[in-house]
Amino acid sequence: MDKKEKHERIKRTLKIVGPIVTAAGLILAVVGFVSFFSAFGSGGMPSLFWCAFIGLPIFVIGLRLTMAAFRREIATYHKNEAAPVVNEFAEDIKPAVQSVASAVRGETAAEGRICPQCGEQNGADAKFCQNCGSALQKVCPACGNSADAKAKFCDNCGHHFPE
Ligand SMILES: [Zn+2]
Ligand SMILES: [Zn+2]
Repeated sequence: MDKKEKHERIKRTLKIVGPIVTAAGLILAVVGFVSFFSAFGSGGMPSLFWCAFIGLPIFVIGLRLTMAAFRREIATYHKNEAAPVVNEFAEDIKPAVQSVASAVRGETAAEGRICPQCGEQNGADAKFCQNCGSALQKVCPACGNSADAKAKFCDNCGHHFPE
């Protein structure tokens, strides 16, 4: 038999052995704890408490065997479940990543206007924020040039904008 076939056979065995070991460990642990707590109540010695000591590790080992045996099924399940979430998440953070990236490159002015109120990325010649409606530009009263809403002076004629 080749390696893959052997692997499959081990997995098939584990799929049966794993849950049995898990169940056996769980039963032992429960027996141990029940013994412990009933002895605690009656004041006697917990005669079967050792069951918990043996049962817990057996339970953990069984759980691991089961996990190993069903790894592919679990992975497939997680993949199917996680994929749309990841995509939605990526779509959510995309604009943020883009604005951070362009801010790092210093290209915000060329690519658009960041709203000073809410941080929304707007078009390069947007007059108002598409998210909150704040003014992004003002018109210079002296020369008619449009300037950034936060500008203190007109970059065309040097007019000082009132605060
Ligand atoms: Zn805004
Ligand atoms: Zn001006």
